[in-house]
Amino acid sequence: MKGKETDTMEKIVSLCKRRGFIYQGSEIYGGLAGTWDYGPLGVALKNNIKNLWWRMFVDDREDMYGLDAAQIMKGKVWEASGHTGAGFADPMVEDKKTKKRYRADHLLQDIGVDAESMTLEEINAVIKEKNLKSPDGNELSEAKLFNLLFPVHMGSVADKTSVAYLRGETAQGMFVNFKNILDSFHPKLPFGIGQIGKAFRNEISPRDFIFRTREFEQMEIEYFVRETDWEESFEYWRKEMLKWIELIGLDMKKVHELDVPDEERAHYSKRTIDFEYDFPFGDRKELYGLAYRTDHDLGGHTQGSKVDLSYYDQDKNERFIPHVIEPTFGLDRTILALLSTAYTEDVMGGDTRIFLKLNPLITPVKVAVFPLKKNDKKLQKKAREVYDMIRAEIPEVMYDDNANVGKRYRRQDEIGTPFCITVDFETLEGKDGPKDTVTLRYRDTGAQERVSIHELLATLHAKLSTKR
Ligand code: ATP
Repeated sequence: MKGKETDTMEKIVSLCKRRGFIYQGSEIYGGLAGTWDYGPLGVALKNNIKNLWWRMFVDDREDMYGLDAAQIMKGKVWEASGHTGAGFADPMVEDKKTKKRYRADHLLQDIGVDAESMTLEEINAVIKEKNLKSPDGNELSEAKLFNLLFPVHMGSVADKTSVAYLRGETAQGMFVNFKNILDSFHPKLPFGIGQIGKAFRNEISPRDFIFRTREFEQMEIEYFVRETDWEESFEYWRKEMLKWIELIGLDMKKVHELDVPDEERAHYSKRTIDFEYDFPFGDRKELYGLAYRTDHDLGGHTQGSKVDLSYYDQDKNERFIPHVIEPTFGLDRTILALLSTAYTEDVMGGDTRIFLKLNPLITPVKVAVFPLKKNDKKLQKKAREVYDMIRAEIPEVMYDDNANVGKRYRRQDEIGTPFCITVDFETLEGKDGPKDTVTLRYRDTGAQERVSIHELLATLHAKLSTKR
């Protein structure tokens, strides 16, 4: 890891805890590796991102069908999709002394060896040749494949037939519901199914905060096309993904498209683009993926379930299994990338001001309202009136009268609130101008202006683009 980035990462993790975005999972019991709990501001940020995504990719389109499938799915689903096999397993080594487990490919990567497309035998040969030790300096075991699915024993009898799995990706929920959507809505190709939800992977070494966790959230689309149309559709979705990246305000200079070479692609994919991001832990890693999955999934489930998952084109009198383009967006990685893009330190007169330069569309709090003085009844009353007026139209507003105004600004800056409104004595008396004006302060510049209360909502709506 590089020094500066690691530093930023630590600052982000600390800010997330301090300000109520993200806490360690099961923290008071010493934590549970690879799990994180989203606090009040974290869940608000997540919901804003999910709502924006749902609006852009589901609600605003006529060719998309929303879904919320169960997170526990039958073992047979994962057998048919290939996830119980070697395709969904990572190479694992064990420190012979501490018994700690590591991803073999990560250890090789740390010494500059790209193991992405290596076989287990090749990985073991490199470990031997380089006499690779664990991070604690101990002997390593041979690398073995470790499956990432979490088994769940359903019901009271824990035998093999009752094993189900927490889904390893949301995608399979969409494939197994393909026929339901066809039967209920009779859509014409091309059309898609969109879903947001949790996925679970028993990652060998969860790390880098919310980048690699054991429970995470995906926003995924399975877009069904005729085989002959896959290239056009792939290119269309590549551009849509870039539009989304720009819309939420990620730093485009940190986004890199990687056309994944043949030997590194999943066996079912004929083309994959990884959208990589320069993450704050000092590495360029996958943020999102776009894959052409051919007819692998619907074909596999047709075989596995013996239910016909073909599509009938009435106009052409043809029956066939559609092909699939899959744009996939990791929600937790989106949040980490956004936080690292937004984290800003401004040194002013020896003082460091920290603020999150988040797109106002997704900030947990859009507006904060303060009375200048905490104990002044008249100021309090007026500030409450202003707060209630805003709340009626913009629910993400916060009232704060804790400590002095300077401290309140700091707190709001740190959580990315784009606008702060202060009700002061001028509001009540209109000393230097008309009565009923408040101070509107901007997060990014710290600049302030006076705005009439009558114009306040219109001004905020215009700046937040909250009206559709
Ligand atoms: P990686 O190579 O980093 O393990 P992957 O190629 O296995 O990722 P996909 O199977 O393509 O990931 O999953 C789709 C998306 O889900 C990823 O682009 C990423 O944003 C997210 N994702 C995958 N695994 C994790 C994880 N362990 N923690 C958080 N997000 C994840």
